[in-house]
Amino acid sequence: MYKKSISLVVDMYGCPNRCKHCWLGNMPNRKMEENADQYLVDYFKPYFDSVTYYSWLREPDYCPEYAKRWITDNKISINKKPMRFELASFWRIVRDSNYIIFLKEVNVKVVQLTFFGLEKLTDKYIGRSGAFQELLKATKILIENKISPRWQAFINEETRNEIVDLLELSKELKIHEKCLEFGGGFKFFVHSGSCDGENAKLYNIRINKENIPIKLIPYYLDYDEVLTEQECCDILKSDSSHFVYHNDGDIVLNISNTYDIYFNFTQMSEEWKIGNLKTEDQVEIIRRIIKEDIPALNLARNITVEELVQKYGDKNSHKAFHLSDYKSYLLNCCVKDILGKSNQT
Ligand code: SF4
Repeated sequence: MYKKSISLVVDMYGCPNRCKHCWLGNMPNRKMEENADQYLVDYFKPYFDSVTYYSWLREPDYCPEYAKRWITDNKISINKKPMRFELASFWRIVRDSNYIIFLKEVNVKVVQLTFFGLEKLTDKYIGRSGAFQELLKATKILIENKISPRWQAFINEETRNEIVDLLELSKELKIHEKCLEFGGGFKFFVHSGSCDGENAKLYNIRINKENIPIKLIPYYLDYDEVLTEQECCDILKSDSSHFVYHNDGDIVLNISNTYDIYFNFTQMSEEWKIGNLKTEDQVEIIRRIIKEDIPALNLARNITVEELVQKYGDKNSHKAFHLSDYKSYLLNCCVKDILGKSNQT
């Protein structure tokens, strides 16, 4: 038994969207076997103090029996119950009138909704037409039911102007005032996202810091800490430390619908895979989890940040990053470059 807690975050039902910024990486939907949940809890039970089970990794409450599912997740978890987050399925909010009642019953006070501009761009980036209108409708339903919507907008060189229009739209719709009427609040915020998973593919259109519209600066997440890539390279060019993710406290595992497991540090790609629960030895899998022994982390332990900057940094780029996101971007470039090649051979 390890004196650690583990959370199992399982892609049991998939997601209706295919967002271009998805840090997990887009994966096919596949409904897992009925008994997958108990199998997974039983797998980890002998080794950990507590096992917390989440039946969704991508879209929360995407399965039709979401209320029963929430009860089961609570029931099969051992010593630590799952939490609700400020997240919900906007796909379901607009299709299922019972769902908003369920959200209230489980005490959800705020729901975050994601935009990429106005209709055409939001539909394009979410990966299906109708998504933008659904987000507006979901906002209305949330307010009617005294739940505060929170709008996050992903900015890049393509979306930046429309995000200004989106901010104006939120003002025209008087969302803030409507939330105040029931004692809630409305937050609008903008950011570029980390640069992993699907979002790494958008590196070429990542916003240059000087192109962030002035009107959006008050809404930009931690704007005071936003640097250009050039500034990041300058700060890190003599940094001899290693950038290695580590589980300080609880371990959180992301589990695919084919039983591949990953730490929740970054994207779910082959190089970051711990192993497969169905095809590999259980004792060996547990050892890899405890020792954090996976290809990408072993590579990270053997390359310094200054080497990463030298090999993968663009010292002339003005793309906007927070420093920690930039380090993770550099590491993922290296992982893809070195381990991605060996995976192909
Ligand atoms: S970002 Fe969320 S909603 Fe979008 S594809 Fe990924 S898991 Fe689904």
